[in-house]
Amino acid sequence: MLNKNIQTYSLTLLITGGAGFIGSNFIFHMLEKYPKYRIICLDKLTYAGNLFTLANVMDNPNFRFVKADICDREAVFRLFAEEHPDIVVNFAAESHVDRSIVDPEIFLQTNIIGTATLMDACRKFGIKRFHQVSTDEVYGDLPLDRPDLFFTEETAIHTSSPYSASKASADLLVMAYHRTYGLPVTISRCSNNYGPYQFPEKLIPLMIVNALAEKPLPVYGEGLNVRDWLYVEDHCKAIDLIIHKGKIGEVYNIGGHNEMRNIDIVKLICKELGKSESLITYVADRKGHDRRYAIDSTKIYNKLAWLPNTKFADGIKKTIQWYLHNRQWWENIISGEYRQ
Ligand code: NAD
Repeated sequence: MLNKNIQTYSLTLLITGGAGFIGSNFIFHMLEKYPKYRIICLDKLTYAGNLFTLANVMDNPNFRFVKADICDREAVFRLFAEEHPDIVVNFAAESHVDRSIVDPEIFLQTNIIGTATLMDACRKFGIKRFHQVSTDEVYGDLPLDRPDLFFTEETAIHTSSPYSASKASADLLVMAYHRTYGLPVTISRCSNNYGPYQFPEKLIPLMIVNALAEKPLPVYGEGLNVRDWLYVEDHCKAIDLIIHKGKIGEVYNIGGHNEMRNIDIVKLICKELGKSESLITYVADRKGHDRRYAIDSTKIYNKLAWLPNTKFADGIKKTIQWYLHNRQWWENIISGEYRQ
C-alpha cells in the first residue's frame, strides 16, 4: 500500500546561498508559489548567511537545509546523488565589494571555483537548468554625464573590483560549459537590490541601523555615485520567470528603472526615520569606485513580459518598516549572536 505521507514533487530545486539576502527571499517566494516543488537550500553559512532568516520555513516539509560549501566537491556531489535536483539556482557568493578589495582570494574560490564545482555536478547527474545569479557590475560603470547610456546584454564585460571580476569569470565559465558540454544554462545580471533580510553592511540597511542608533552614516566620496535600485521581490519574480521560460544559453539583464545617487538615498532614510542629516559623514572614496550603473532591461520585458512592480518610494518605506519591526534579526547580527 502506498504511504500517503510521501509527497510527490513536480520539481526539485537546489538553491545555493539561500541563507543570504536574495536567496532567502527567493526561497520564500518559491515555497509559497509552488507548493508541489521540493526546495533544497545549500549554504556554507559564512558571516553573510543567517539561519534565523530561514526559521519560518525550516519545518516546511517541502524544504531541506544543508550546510555545505559549494567548493566542496564531495559534499556537492553527495547532495546531487541524494536529491537529483531538476533546477539549480546559484546565489552562493561572496558579495561585498569592499571585502573583495581587502581580501580577494575567497571571492575567487567561492565565486569561480564554487560555480564550476556546481556545474560539474550538474554535468554528472544531469539537470534541466543551471541558473547563475550574476550582477550588472560585470559591465563596469558608466559616466555620470551620459544619462543616455545603459548596460544591455551586449555591453562588453569590463570589471572594476575583484568582486565583479570574480562574478564575470563565473559568467564566462557558465557560457563555456554551455558551449562545450551543452549544459542548459541561463544567466541573469541584476542591479542593486534592497529589501528585507539584507545584511547590515550594505548601503541601505547599514544606513537604517546606524541612523536608528544615532551613529555616523558613512558615505563614500561625495555620495554622487549612481545605482539602479530594485526591490528584492521583483528580482525573485524575474528569476522565477527565467528558470521556467527563459531560453537556454541566454543572458537577461534585470533592472529597476530607478537610478538614485547614494547621498539622496541616505538623506531619504534620514527623513523617513526623522533623523538629522548631520549624522552623514563623508569618508575616503572606495578604490576603483564605479560611478554609475544603469540597466536596460528591454530584453526580459520583450521576451518574458517582466517589469518591476514595486516603486522605489514604496519599497524603501516597506524596507524601513521591516527593519523597524525586525530589530532582533539585525541586532543578533550586530552582537554576533546569529553565528551561534
Ligand atoms: P549575501 O552575501 O547576502 O548571501 C550570500 C550567501 O551565500 C550567504 O548565505 C552565504 O553564507 C552563502 N555562501 C557564501 N559562500 C558560500 C559557499 N562557498 N558555499 C555555499 N554558500 C556560500 O548575497 P546576496 O546579496 O543575497 O547576493 C546573492 C547573489 O546575487 C550573489 O551571487 C550576488 O553576486 C548576486 N547579486 C546581488 C545583488 C545585490 O544587490 N545584493 C545584485 C545583483 C546580483
